[in-house]
Amino acid sequence: MQRLWGRKISDLAFGEFIQILEWVAKKKHKQVVFIDQWYPSTKTCSHCGHIRKKIDLSVRLWRCPECQLVHGREDNAACNIQAVADLFVVDSQ
Ligand SMILES: [Zn+2]
Repeated sequence: MQRLWGRKISDLAFGEFIQILEWVAKKKHKQVVFIDQWYPSTKTCSHCGHIRKKIDLSVRLWRCPECQLVHGREDNAACNIQAVADLFVVDSQ
């Protein structure tokens, strides 16, 4: 587990973790972006934007009924979260 200021991340309260994350981001001229906790990152096809009504936790791979692309659950969610975050990141250059 990665250590942060001599403490494990898992030992921090979530609010404390966010404070440290924002402090480090500011120091490194980075931006922390928060997205809606209910954003359907897992159920949305990162290729065409189709949103499935439901996806069980046991489903690790799924095929989009619209574009037929096969998605890994976590990789697809990560792509969707990155796409949402990219909308809010201010280009500092
Ligand atoms: Zn699709």
